[in-house]
Amino acid sequence: MARIVVAQEAGACFGVERALGMVRNAAREATAPVHTLGPLIHNPRVVAQLAADGVGVVEDSSEVPAGDVLFMRTHGVAPHVEERARELGLQVIDATCPFVKKVHVAAERLEREGYQVIVVGEAGHPEVEGTVGHAPGALVVGCVADLDGVNIARRVGLVVQTTLAQDTLREVVAALIGRCDELRVMDTICDATSKRQEAAAELARRADVMVVIGGRNSANTTHLAQICAAACKRTHHIELPEELDATWFEGAELVGITAGASTPAEQIDEVRVRIERLLP
Ligand code: SF4
Repeated sequence: MARIVVAQEAGACFGVERALGMVRNAAREATAPVHTLGPLIHNPRVVAQLAADGVGVVEDSSEVPAGDVLFMRTHGVAPHVEERARELGLQVIDATCPFVKKVHVAAERLEREGYQVIVVGEAGHPEVEGTVGHAPGALVVGCVADLDGVNIARRVGLVVQTTLAQDTLREVVAALIGRCDELRVMDTICDATSKRQEAAAELARRADVMVVIGGRNSANTTHLAQICAAACKRTHHIELPEELDATWFEGAELVGITAGASTPAEQIDEVRVRIERLLP
């Protein structure tokens, strides 16, 4: 019978597990209705389960009646977003990942100390927008080309989107050397993403079939599936255990499983159990 191996680093990261726990507790114990500002994570199953537990999703705090509970999700928000929610009389609970909080604190401090703050990350990403809210004069740089023709101050302070690739940070730092007198780099990259990618690639090289679990709207899960497909042709990206097909596993000796940072452990277990049943 084929062996099933789950990648050493797979599934929900610390920040997502923490936020999920906080919201589930609130849904059980809060005396008022609970909402999240945007979907809590990019995992439609989890969002649907939370909805069944009475947790709604809103796009703006003005949609929430006074007195209700409103969660700020792991990506974090600009200070004015939280302030407005409190002014509207909402019970605000902050589920921002502590690693994202570190980025906010670093950006604020650098700006206060007179540095030109550069946020290295993807413009428009909610985490980056939240960080810019903490250092309103900050410039967002996604790649070296974004620095072309930009005035760079003598003292520059960098903070980094938590999920950015180390290589991009290195390139931006290299491009700034020589364009300023002082360059402070706060390496705020969280290694949850890179660890999942390295573990998935290692397993995919050995596996006959790879199953990648997570929302199709999750960028990090889709990227994991691409990494696995490059090493293992029989890679399948699924959201639900019901999508598994027995024919995928014919002749396989090693079936690998991995999951994106927004996939809770129980969804990995469900898939593992179902594959066990499908194996010849
Ligand atoms: S990837 Fe890292 S920074 Fe982002 S939520 Fe997970 S633990 Fe926090």
